[in-house]
Amino acid sequence: MRIVRYQVKEEAPQYGWLLDDKIGEVDGDIFGRYRRRDANIPRADVKLLAPCQPSKIVCVGRNYVDHAKELGNEVPKVPLIFLKPQSSIIASGEAILLPPQSAQVEHEAELVIVIGKRGRHITTEDAKKHILGYTVGNDVTARDLQKSDGQWTRAKGFDTFCVFGPWIDTDFDPSDAVVTCRVNGQMRQMASTRDMVFSVPTLVAYISSVMTLEPGDLIFSGTPAGVGPLKPGDRVDVEIDGLGGISNPVRAE
Ligand code: ZN
Repeated sequence: MRIVRYQVKEEAPQYGWLLDDKIGEVDGDIFGRYRRRDANIPRADVKLLAPCQPSKIVCVGRNYVDHAKELGNEVPKVPLIFLKPQSSIIASGEAILLPPQSAQVEHEAELVIVIGKRGRHITTEDAKKHILGYTVGNDVTARDLQKSDGQWTRAKGFDTFCVFGPWIDTDFDPSDAVVTCRVNGQMRQMASTRDMVFSVPTLVAYISSVMTLEPGDLIFSGTPAGVGPLKPGDRVDVEIDGLGGISNPVRAE
């Protein structure tokens, strides 16, 4: 099933499910008990929002060997994790704003894990039970500030720097999917998720050994090689084969 969050005109946002180009309402809690109504609302009649509201966004750095190398870094011995704030979230279609503090904002195409069930000290064997599904992400990064600050909060935390969507796919198999990023139609990043250093279950287990994972929390699983700068007027497309794609224009703030 593909879960969406959507809005009709000025009405309150709500969860739904997508079948072809039609949306059906979902009654209840998508992380618990719910009932699906018939999919009969044309997708073109609604605004799709970021597909959930995470209490936290956990990201993994240097989880592809080639990307660690291209920035001159070693592959970490354990997952390298950091957080992005909720205020950085935008949906597919909304503009990524380049802040005046940075001269080098870059795209990072990523597979994103969506947590479905609360847990702490989750084992790798149990990880799947705690995952609701997967979505497509762009971990937008001010590369110059990441280097100069040491701490990554500013570089990763600007408003509009967390794109994910357009839906959560609950049936997606993350073991060998091709992740691509195009800027103005030109391929920048392409790799399979099988090249990740730390697998999805390992990431869930590791992160939950540190912090309780809540329903709706996101894990950005790291980006492959090929990261590069974004300029005003660009359009950046991130796609994951069999999952979906997000597309955002880029503007100066
Ligand atoms: Zn990243």
